Amino acid sequence: MDDCLFCKIARGELPSKKAYEDEDVLVFHDIHPIAPVHLLLIPKAHVESLASCAAQHQAILGKLLLLAPKLALEYGLDQGFRTMINTGRGGGQEVFHLHLHVFGGGERIPKI
Ligand code: AMP
Ligand code: ZN
Repeated sequence: MDDCLFCKIARGELPSKKAYEDEDVLVFHDIHPIAPVHLLLIPKAHVESLASCAAQHQAILGKLLLLAPKLALEYGLDQGFRTMINTGRGGGQEVFHLHLHVFGGGERIPKI
């Protein structure tokens, strides 16, 4: 995906503030955080959104979800955190490369 923003970040063509990386996942800090800690967890392989996922994405989806509490703890969110996956324009998605938001810290996050 040549012109996908998060693919470019995953390939190191655009800078990011990295929080974690392995062979198939990259985690970096959101450029416009909505909480004191705001991480984005992405698969390195391009997939547009949760709605585009299929059986072959089961492992990466599980990996992202299992990574969330580990990184949350590592970044001091010992009181808890929120996860969010915006899907499609109707779901508020702006970057069309699957990503899991993990955020928290500071004041209690309002209920949605
Ligand atoms: P979404 O609305 O779920 O698609 O969220 C996209 C998120 O990506 C937003 O929270 C943006 O602040 C964040 N974002 C956009 N560009 C960058 C970037 N270059 N580095 C880090 N985060 C970004
Ligand atoms: Zn991409």
